[in-house]
Amino acid sequence: MFSYKLSEVADAMNAKLVGNPDQIIESIWIDSRHIVLAKNGIFFALKGAQIDGHTYVQSAYDKGIRNFVVSEIPKSLGEANFLVVDNPKKALQAWAKHHRQKFDYTVVGITGSNGKTIVKEWLYQLLYDKIKLIRSPKSFNSQIGVPISVLEMMDGISLAIFELGISQPNEMMQISDIVKPNLAIITNIGEAHSEFFKDREQHIQEKIQIAEHAEIIIYPSDDTALKQAIKNKYPNKKHISFGESNEADIQKIETKEGLKVNFKNKTYQLPFEYKDEASLNNALICFAVLTQLDIDLEHVLDDFKRIMPVEMRLEVLEGSHQIEIINDAFNSDLSSIPIALNVLNHHAKPKKTLILTDILQNRQKGAALYQEVADWVNAYPIQKVVLIGEEITEFKAFFKNLYASFKDTASFLNELKASDFAGETILLKGARKFELERISKVFEKKSHDTILEVNLQNLLENLNYFRSKLKPSTKLMAMVKAFGYGAGGFDISQALASQHIDYLGVAYADEGAELRQQGISTPIIVMNPEQNSYTSIIESSLEPEIYSLRVLRKFTEKLIDKNIATAYPIHIKLNTGMNRLGFKLEDISELVQELADNPYVKVRTIFSHLATSDVPSEHAFVHQQMQKYQEMYERIVSNIGYRPTRHILNSAGILNFPDYQMDMVRVGIGMFGVSMGSAHQKHLKPVVTFKTVISQISTLQAGDTVSYGRNFKANEITKIATLPVGYADGLKRSLGNENGHVSIHGQLAPIIGTVCMDMMMVDISGINCQEGDEVIIFGEKPSLEEVAEQCNTITYEILTSISSRVKRIYLKE
Ligand SMILES: *Cc1c(COP(=O)(O)O)cnc(C)c1O
Repeated sequence: MFSYKLSEVADAMNAKLVGNPDQIIESIWIDSRHIVLAKNGIFFALKGAQIDGHTYVQSAYDKGIRNFVVSEIPKSLGEANFLVVDNPKKALQAWAKHHRQKFDYTVVGITGSNGKTIVKEWLYQLLYDKIKLIRSPKSFNSQIGVPISVLEMMDGISLAIFELGISQPNEMMQISDIVKPNLAIITNIGEAHSEFFKDREQHIQEKIQIAEHAEIIIYPSDDTALKQAIKNKYPNKKHISFGESNEADIQKIETKEGLKVNFKNKTYQLPFEYKDEASLNNALICFAVLTQLDIDLEHVLDDFKRIMPVEMRLEVLEGSHQIEIINDAFNSDLSSIPIALNVLNHHAKPKKTLILTDILQNRQKGAALYQEVADWVNAYPIQKVVLIGEEITEFKAFFKNLYASFKDTASFLNELKASDFAGETILLKGARKFELERISKVFEKKSHDTILEVNLQNLLENLNYFRSKLKPSTKLMAMVKAFGYGAGGFDISQALASQHIDYLGVAYADEGAELRQQGISTPIIVMNPEQNSYTSIIESSLEPEIYSLRVLRKFTEKLIDKNIATAYPIHIKLNTGMNRLGFKLEDISELVQELADNPYVKVRTIFSHLATSDVPSEHAFVHQQMQKYQEMYERIVSNIGYRPTRHILNSAGILNFPDYQMDMVRVGIGMFGVSMGSAHQKHLKPVVTFKTVISQISTLQAGDTVSYGRNFKANEITKIATLPVGYADGLKRSLGNENGHVSIHGQLAPIIGTVCMDMMMVDISGINCQEGDEVIIFGEKPSLEEVAEQCNTITYEILTSISSRVKRIYLKE
């Protein structure tokens, strides 16, 4: 990590400094939502096409940022330091350029239309245990990502690898000037991102500028135009070309055992297991780099066998009829086809189907293009090929195992059903405009008879109802613990993220880590930070609830252990009467003493939890808890000298005790439309609907009995329906024997006999219905609250009991 004085940063970017020149700067933030360690951080108010970072200066300030790079000093911000520049993006680049000059170890720069990330990651996989190296994070290859990556360069390493991506003319010179690679790689120049260039020549001229400051340049030898351009522009640099021809400096020789390479009259055998052209080329590039580094080449080669594929943006979904769907409906340029086919080939099911659309973004056209595509497809063991698009169907004769072809996705859906592909793996490969994901949606949805439908629109409306009970300044934390109350942690968090939620709350670190992996960037509090999860908490930028001195000490140890230099945000939990977790009044003096001596943490909020906010007869206890809370809070504050955010109310608390909202509230069950029977209920909407369909209808004669134990006995001729849902799905067994109902076409049908593991029976006498018809277990009617009451429990338990085998479906506007 770097450490700069603000004055040095100002000099590097030629900025006007307003504030403290000796302020230390140790981290950079460009998105206020991501800020976790604000101390010694600097926020860049970048201007994009849609958004202006200046709008988020206040929110960065609220998260503790006190240093800003701006083009204009905002009014009415508290005390802070400013670097004033014309263009914050250019300033960031200038700073990175200044930083780069401090290091003289080898810097590898990679550009090209495909394979940049793969080559970078593979080099890392080959070298990480041999030399100290850093690489740019996943897709940090842009005008902003590159400078941020370069600022991570530090002493004590011997190699840095950066990706340099461009999409428009004149961009390469700017970033190549920042990175100054000594060793420049051009993986290939294909069709992707070429739309902003006049022609291929212009695209080539732009890309090769990556080598402007380099001594060595690596490029494909079979691209004659590229090769000529490099020779003309850089006659005096060291050239290393790779490819199949004799002229290539690094020549590929295909063999059955792996990859053979000729280099300087010597042949090397690489234990490399991938056979597709793109992977072989990427391996050649890695080999080329290895020959130029100060390492023992022979010693590294064996490690080609440990190369692993770099994660791609393919989704794998489970469909109905035991179908597995690989969704690669994001692009369809020629070079990505072999990669996707390779993935299909590695999937387990023996029967494979390819659904392929017109190939877009390619200069090659017509027969030549589709012959090449067909050659690829025909080389793989694929039983069914389905073509979608007017262009590709013209050439359907090229495809060996053609099963069907359609002019568009809609006609496909009219003709074919999921059952036509039972038991197969299907690769959906196509250009975005064909919307192949519609196929995956259809194939997916029908697979499950029993589903939990989550109406995200209603969830947000409920949330806004709760919000309407609060002052505009009161912050909102949404509790998404226990898989979002059983409704789906990620999907709910994602919907909430668009609604300006200040915090998410989870129970355990792994829930929070998963949300981070799925791209949720809202701050997340972990209510139950287990001792073994501190590493994961820190690595995923989660914020722990600290409920005892033991936890405070242990967590601090971990921060020191991990060299976290800026004060880490924590949340102090007070026990005011719940007697679950938290500091008691008598612990406070020791707590404040420890906090005073602890520079590693910063108390962001102090909170407690009400035991009886939803129990009208116990409201006096709420006031008592609140008084205790206030006393403890003030005691802490008078010692630490700052006022962390205060919060105590849960959903019922918001409705019943709005006066106690303080700085923030924590809404949970209320989002699901539950108000504990209060007068607010009519303003809330049901969010979760538990549904199934009728499997079978049968008629009982008088005297016939139903289910285990024969607890139901028909007194007369009775029509019953069997439903494919049981206690293993989370349906409470206590609803059996006529304690509960389901609803079919709006009419209530009592649950009869004992509920089985995977099935149950209902009495449908007098209800006009058929096999396959929809059945509501709860939702609008019967309501979640009614069902909870029938089961003698609370809505929370009913929701969180629904088993993970029940498919969750999300409805959005
Ligand atoms: C679960 C939880 C909440 C939310 O409670 P609801 O009754 O669902 O609104 C609030 N605070 C804490 C600490 C919680 O654990």
